[in-house]
Amino acid sequence: MTTDVQVAVIGGGIVGASVLYWLTRMGWTDALLIERRELTSGSTWHAAGNTTYFGPYPRMTRLFAGSLRTYREAEAESGQAIGFHQTGSLRLAATPREQELFHAFAPRYAELGLPYHVRTPDEVAALHPFVDPAGIHGAAHTPTDGHVDPTGTTHALAAAARARGAQILRQRPVTGLSRANGGWRLETDQGPITAQHVVVATSFWARQMLAPLGFDLPLIATQHHEIITEDLPAVAARATELPAIRDSWVSCNVRQERNGLLIGIYEDAPEFWALDGVPPDFGEELLAPNIDRLMPHLERLMQRMPIFAEAGIRIANNGPLCFTPDGLPLIGPLPGQDGLWLASGFNVGIGTGGGAAEVLAHWMTTGAPPPGLEAVHADRFGPGMPLGAALDRIRSVYARGYQLPDSI
Ligand SMILES: Cc1cc2nc3c(=O)[nH]c(=O)nc-3n(C[C@H](O)[C@H](O)[C@H](O)COP(=O)(O)OP(=O)(O)OC[C@H]3O[C@@H](n4cnc5c(N)ncnc54)[C@H](O)[C@@H]3O)c2cc1C
Repeated sequence: MTTDVQVAVIGGGIVGASVLYWLTRMGWTDALLIERRELTSGSTWHAAGNTTYFGPYPRMTRLFAGSLRTYREAEAESGQAIGFHQTGSLRLAATPREQELFHAFAPRYAELGLPYHVRTPDEVAALHPFVDPAGIHGAAHTPTDGHVDPTGTTHALAAAARARGAQILRQRPVTGLSRANGGWRLETDQGPITAQHVVVATSFWARQMLAPLGFDLPLIATQHHEIITEDLPAVAARATELPAIRDSWVSCNVRQERNGLLIGIYEDAPEFWALDGVPPDFGEELLAPNIDRLMPHLERLMQRMPIFAEAGIRIANNGPLCFTPDGLPLIGPLPGQDGLWLASGFNVGIGTGGGAAEVLAHWMTTGAPPPGLEAVHADRFGPGMPLGAALDRIRSVYARGYQLPDSI
């Protein structure tokens, strides 16, 4: 039997669930999400859940701001908790240029109505007593952001979309995608699905999914580490949760996780995963961690945050993370493929997925591309990019970590 819908979203991570939610909010309720395994099975389940309002490109700040707003609205609608901790975030200035740019970003936050302050090193130390203010030039402070539970958030989005009429099919891999009757046909082991519009939100799986249509899109899985420490008595003794830190010099983010610290690291020499295609039997596994590769960063972190030297490592996670050659997601229609849309390539998908989905759903339901967001358009690499060139560019953009872009 064929299922026929107006729109099918492939992929049940935070991005697919956000797109489904926003499409139903904008009136496309004849909508279906189809997931290979369970919701959050891809990168979403092991994300730290950081959702800052700080975006390194002012024109894209609304994607960050819109994400947390989206998740909170889905929570209110569905009753499913998203586990938001409002810790605020400090984006440390490791150089005078960074602090100068932080001042230049202020008007964008005022325009969006978001609290934003540029702090001196002493103010940073007052907000986060474990940061050594020597060696920093200040910080951008966004006091009303924090982190969410990515699994709870994905389920809140899915539940809110379902309540508006959407269907969610789990344990149903899409095994083929082709044109049919002016729309698209998805093959599954339980019969085909036809849809006028399809959104591919399958992260690094999208590269192989779109190859039969003539694309070789640079959507590549990197290996990304996060570390969780043992409890620290000085952290446990605090009355309030620490703000999250992002630091271009250490190339990491740090937030409180229970009474310890959770650290996400952008390595100098990232390694890739599954360049020949994601193994068909890949489930939700993590990859083997390699602490040696992280050591230069962890040593710098001990200088920046001396308390880290007292902490034993409790957990080291290495998970696949989708990256593109410019570090930005691919959002929008695929060239020459009417009705086929892409929402993949998110390396901060919790931080930007909800806001990006709002933009994409608006584009799909009105036909009008969002102004000023050409940098994330899905057609910017044309039909593809040679793998070697893509890997070279991803290596360098990943290694830049939290360094601000050369042009803003
Ligand atoms: C260690 C680590 C920590 C992180 N921490 C953060 C953080 O703090 N903040 C942040 O913003 N980001 C973080 N990230 C990144 C974040 O996890 C991703 O950006 C985000 O989860 C991407 O969401 P997605 O929906 O695009 O992809 P995914 O979550 O990977 O979802 C894609 C889905 O597509 C499904 N799928 C694939 N093929 C098919 C098919 N053929 N048919 C049907 N379904 C299919 C998959 O099963 C999967 O569920 C972290 C990543 C890692 C590795």
